Amino acid sequence: AAKGSGGNGWTWYDPEMDRQADAELRLTAELHQAAARDELFLVYQPIVELPDGRPTGVEALLRWRHPRHGLVPPDVFIPLAERTGAIVEIGRWVLTEACRQAAAWQRGGGISRVSINMSARQLSQPGIVAEIAGIVERTGVDPTGLMIEVTETAVLAVDSAVDALRDLRALGLTVALDDFGTGNSSLSLLVNCPVDVLKVDKSFVSGVTSATAQAVIVDGLIDITNRLRIRAVAEGVETASQAVRLHAAGYRYAQGFHFARPMPAPLVDSWLADQRLTGSAAEMREISSS
Ligand code: C2E
Ligand code: MG
Ligand code: MG
Ligand code: MG
Repeated sequence: AAKGSGGNGWTWYDPEMDRQADAELRLTAELHQAAARDELFLVYQPIVELPDGRPTGVEALLRWRHPRHGLVPPDVFIPLAERTGAIVEIGRWVLTEACRQAAAWQRGGGISRVSINMSARQLSQPGIVAEIAGIVERTGVDPTGLMIEVTETAVLAVDSAVDALRDLRALGLTVALDDFGTGNSSLSLLVNCPVDVLKVDKSFVSGVTSATAQAVIVDGLIDITNRLRIRAVAEGVETASQAVRLHAAGYRYAQGFHFARPMPAPLVDSWLADQRLTGSAAEMREISSS
C-alpha cells in the first residue's frame, strides 16, 4: 500500500511498492518463457471412487520450477498469468502435455481419464474449441476421457464460455465446475451452464464431520446434483472420517490427500499398480476390463 498521501492527491514514492512491481514484472517476463525453457511440468492427483478409493481418473495440476526461486505455487503464478495474458501460452502447453500423457495412459491401459483446469482468459480465446480439437487430433487422445475444469467465476466472466463449453461437450469432453460454492451465483450456473460434474470445494468438505453449515451444504448439494443428474466430486478430502461421512451422505467420487497427493506421471503408474495389487480380485477384474 502507499506509504502516505499528503492530503492533496499526491502519494509518496514507496520503494517497497516499486520493488514489488519490479519483482512482478520480472516474474511475468520469466513466466512467458517458462514453457520454452522447460520449467513447467504437470503432476496428477487421482480422483477416486468411494468408499474403497478405487481410481477413476486424475487431475492435471501445473507446477513451475523457477531457476532461482524453486517451485512457485500455482496460486501465485496462475493469477499472475491470468492478469498478464501469459495464461494463453501456458494453457496451451498444459492442454498439449496433458493430452499427450492421457493418450499414453489410454494406450498403455493405465489411467484413462484426465481432468484439465482452464482459466477464463483461455476459455475466452476465439478459436479455443478448434484448438482443443486440433490437440485431440494430434495427440490421438480419446476425448471422452478428457474433463475440462472451469471455475464458476471463470464461466461468469466470459460471455462466450457457455458456448465453448457446449461445443467441447459435443466433441465428447466432460465439463466440470471447479471449487463449487466459492464464487458468485453458484446455483444459477447450474441452470444456465452445460455441466456434467460439480467439484464441491474443500472449504465445505473440511467441515463435513461436525455440525456445521458446511456439512448441511455438502448434504444439500448431493440431493441437488442427483436430481439434476450431475456427478459430484468432493475435493480436499484429508481424513478417513471425512471420506466415510461423504460416502454416507451419498458422494460417489472424492479427491484429496487422504487418498493420494498430486504426483508426476511415473509415480501415478506405480500408485496405480499398488492399488490394483491391494484391491480385491473382483475389483481388479473390473479395472482391467474397463
Ligand atoms: P484446483 O483445480 O481446485 O486444484 C485442487 C488443489 O487442491 C490443488 O492445489 C491440489 O494440490 C490441492 N489439494 C488436493 N487435495 C487436497 C487436500 O486434501 N488438502 C488440501 N489442503 N489441498 C488439496 P494446487 O496444485 O496448488 O493448485 C491450485 C490451483 O491452481 C488449482 O485449484 C487450480 O485452480 C489452479 N491450477 C493448477 N493447475 C492449473 C492449470 O494447469 N491451469 C489453470 N488455469 N489453473 C491451474
Ligand atoms: Mg481443478
Ligand atoms: Mg478445485
Ligand atoms: Mg482451487
